[in-house]
Amino acid sequence: MNCKNDFPILTQLIHGKPLVYLDSAASSQKPKSVIDALSHYYQHDHANIHRGVYELSERATKAYEQARSHIQHFIHAAHAHEIIFVRGTTEAINLVAQSYGRSQFKAGDEIILSAMEHHSNIVPWQLLANQCGITLKVVPVSDEGELDLTAYEKLFSPATKMVAIIHASNVLGTLNPIKEMVKIAHAHDVPFLVDGAQAFPHVSVDVQDLDCDFYTISAHKAYGPTGIGALYGKTAYLEKMPPYQGGGDMIERVSFSETTYAKLPHKFEAGTPSIADVIGFSASISYLEKITMQKVSAHEQELLSYALSQLKAIPGLRLMGMPKERIGVISFVLDDIHPHDIGTVLDHEGIAVRAGHHCAMPLIERFGIPACVRASFGIYNSCEDIDALVSGLYTVKRLFA
Ligand code: PMP
Repeated sequence: MNCKNDFPILTQLIHGKPLVYLDSAASSQKPKSVIDALSHYYQHDHANIHRGVYELSERATKAYEQARSHIQHFIHAAHAHEIIFVRGTTEAINLVAQSYGRSQFKAGDEIILSAMEHHSNIVPWQLLANQCGITLKVVPVSDEGELDLTAYEKLFSPATKMVAIIHASNVLGTLNPIKEMVKIAHAHDVPFLVDGAQAFPHVSVDVQDLDCDFYTISAHKAYGPTGIGALYGKTAYLEKMPPYQGGGDMIERVSFSETTYAKLPHKFEAGTPSIADVIGFSASISYLEKITMQKVSAHEQELLSYALSQLKAIPGLRLMGMPKERIGVISFVLDDIHPHDIGTVLDHEGIAVRAGHHCAMPLIERFGIPACVRASFGIYNSCEDIDALVSGLYTVKRLFA
């Protein structure tokens, strides 16, 4: 695949060297078609949505609602009203915790999470735990970086009210067996939320096939704009959830004695939304559709096996986990060099990687290290980028020898 030229930002030099961007798991770069869609909208179609009776507002409303249907079809949801626009995965999980959790859970209830969760699938549930006295149960992670499914099954009890699990780990790359895990949860009559922030850009997602009850997406990790994403929820759950926020656009009738709410999905979209970003989100999906998710995944698997073979050959490099099913995310430590030092030296070589705890402190602790370096791939990366990383790591070793 050779689509680097579609991404204007990637043509620049950093510290005099060609930019090698290996931090797509934090945020991906944007193709020109997405940048153009944002600019076209502001230049030609912008007005507030759902209210105006004039041409511009109708055009903006149509584009906004078409984007909803587009995302619905892309993830194979049954209905467009099951797609709620939010700022991203973080807001999606907070919405479910505060709306579903607060209305349905009581003191003593339990939620199952895993030890590989991102902070945004831990902290919203902890906030809820402090509000209504629920307990968090945690599925352990093996040394290979996989979830222990036997332990998972044993965590269920009559008090279990929800399972919330990451689809693909932002640190280990592990692609979790979500379909199997959903089946187990449903056998106990427990709903299942999937944190899809990392999986969505890399694998074809079919929410009906997974049979999950909620699925969360951040557009910026999948070549779309920042500050926009989607929460998928099955109609039956969304219907029984109270609004998350109150304001304009989410109501049917307002009086000081009583307010009735708009139907789905508008009940959950209070205030003027990020209209342009929703349109940019749809453009990023068009971009992926043109390439096809099969090719996206195949390209990434090629990069992954090349990168793993090259990195394993570097003396003193220790990979975090070795999951069988994974996306293009690799975390490692090198000798006893601090990950931030590695990141800084690589930056001087024009290579962008992430160093730190990657918003997954419990997981990093589980592996007995304070921090690690993460290289993550996007569709624009090539084997030459991996060669540059490997050569950069040898420079690091020389400098710290
Ligand atoms: N979950 C995972 C697995 C992530 O990698 C991230 C982003 N790092 C999030 C949730 C949060 O996504 P956002 O910051 O876009 O809300």
